[in-house]
Amino acid sequence: MPTVVVATGNPGKLKEMQVYLNELGWQLELKPSEIDIEETGSTFLENARLKAAGVAKALNQWAIADDSGLEVQALGGAPGIYSARYADSDQARIDRLLRELVALGDRNRSAQFVCALALANPSGDIVLETEGICPGEILLEPQGTGGFGYDPIFYLPALGKSFAEMSPAQKDAHSHRGIAFAQLMPDLKKLALE
Ligand code: IMP
Repeated sequence: MPTVVVATGNPGKLKEMQVYLNELGWQLELKPSEIDIEETGSTFLENARLKAAGVAKALNQWAIADDSGLEVQALGGAPGIYSARYADSDQARIDRLLRELVALGDRNRSAQFVCALALANPSGDIVLETEGICPGEILLEPQGTGGFGYDPIFYLPALGKSFAEMSPAQKDAHSHRGIAFAQLMPDLKKLALE
């Protein structure tokens, strides 16, 4: 069974990847905490590449990384790659985003979630990458209690629900992350990792 390091220190993210990558039969491992890769890229894909390549090279092992966030059109794409750092808590991040939209006159609520994935070989070369995009709208106020992060204010008109109102399986089927893993899966299946 090939071993692949997930370029994150977050056990929750490892678990999530295990679900998406289950059918590949890979052994997924968490990145050791002493390896810290700075996210200095200016796009989600650049940051995913940096993390995958940096961890793979440091450990001489295959590594997979993701980078994700929310882009709000009226805010010029913010919070974007700064989604996790926009404020100190999920509630504060949601409050800031809603406040900023109202301050701008609140006319355009278009937004999209983006998830970039990159896989690096043990030499640190990126061998596969993709970006999953989920378009939606920002609600006037939070709706629903499921999920995490910006889920309560991100609404999918086609389903008539926010991400926080969906079951985990329903969110996986429509989310930027679900889309990115589905896009990558055919190529991942073709790879013979040694
Ligand atoms: P990352 O862990 O560096 O990729 O940061 C992603 C950040 O974007 C998270 O901390 C959340 O704030 C936000 N985010 C990414 N994906 C989602 C999602 O599916 N729902 C809600 N927020 C998300």
